Amino acid sequence: MTRVINFGAGPAMLPREVLVQVGAEMLDWQGSGMSVMEMGHRSPEYGRILAAAESDLRELLAIPDNYHVLFLQGGATLQFAMVPLNLMGGGSGGDYVVTGEWSSRAAREAGRFGTARIAAEIEDGGLRQIPAQSTWQLDRAADYVHLCANETIAGIEFNWIPQTGEVPLVADMSSNFLSRAIEVERYGLIYAGAQKNVGPAGLTIVIVRDDLAGHLRPAAPSLFDYAAQAAAHSMVNTPPTFSIYVAGLVFKWLKEQGGVGAIEARNVAKAALVYGAIDAAAGFYRNAVAPCDRSRMNATFTISRSGLDAEFLAGAQERALVQLAGHRSVGGMRASLYNAMALADVQALASYMTEFSRRHG
Ligand SMILES: *Cc1c(COP(=O)(O)O)cnc(C)c1O
Repeated sequence: MTRVINFGAGPAMLPREVLVQVGAEMLDWQGSGMSVMEMGHRSPEYGRILAAAESDLRELLAIPDNYHVLFLQGGATLQFAMVPLNLMGGGSGGDYVVTGEWSSRAAREAGRFGTARIAAEIEDGGLRQIPAQSTWQLDRAADYVHLCANETIAGIEFNWIPQTGEVPLVADMSSNFLSRAIEVERYGLIYAGAQKNVGPAGLTIVIVRDDLAGHLRPAAPSLFDYAAQAAAHSMVNTPPTFSIYVAGLVFKWLKEQGGVGAIEARNVAKAALVYGAIDAAAGFYRNAVAPCDRSRMNATFTISRSGLDAEFLAGAQERALVQLAGHRSVGGMRASLYNAMALADVQALASYMTEFSRRHG
């Protein structure tokens, strides 16, 4: 069996050790005589799996006690709706910072339920840069400020946290969750679809400060109520049991790697290899993001000479470097460098990029 080096943006690669353990436990989870997939979600065995996943995640991110950790379904896209349905109320609506496709979609969805103002928007073309907070049009009466911590398609990442005073900050961290240390207490709500950096698709993690839960608007489905989900330990109905189990194994794997700080250092080194290869062949490769906002998780680049994309991808494939094509909406190349990707594998990509640019440059 040969495993490829998978640069896909999501669903994405998982740590080999986790997949091996999932395989070993597939027919008989720890003497239970059944697969986790076959287990009742309210059984004592599954209760242990869920509790361990939550406590390991709390430990990894030092999540304060006044935050709920929820394991939900519907993807990050459902959070685009659940956030306004739960948080819009006493204030003037949501302020949206638009730095790419995902934050733009979040704002559009929120607009279906109330006032979603574009407080700032990244400029197209040139070297794209997240606008400085001094230029944002924030309303002090807003219900919340929403941003996307890492725009997966263009590869634009926040390396700073805005100051929003009393207004809760809401962040879509789908593609950089657990890739770096974060100060949870600076956010009102964090959400992330699991399939980028955490586990299988079908699971969405929500971390919400307890005073922000409990305000679901009356006409919304009861399943969307953060407070009800918190009270029921994410089991208002059947949770995505198998995805939570695999995510729990990823949390244990992360702890074995030394935690989020250690993985962050590795992620910085990995990103430096790819951007280093791009910058060393400037003129041949181009990354369109200001260096301060370059994503550590999704490095995007284009090949300046036209007609070489297919050859680049075919040569990569021969070296088992796969899923490097950029998002279908933008083209070009994208190397996703999530936690499970080893430094040596990123080095293989960087070496190939350098060799390819010498051959054609
Ligand atoms: C992938 C992604 C989404 C959409 O996730 P779904 O789980 O497909 O709804 C939203 N935001 C970001 C930042 C993403 O990377």
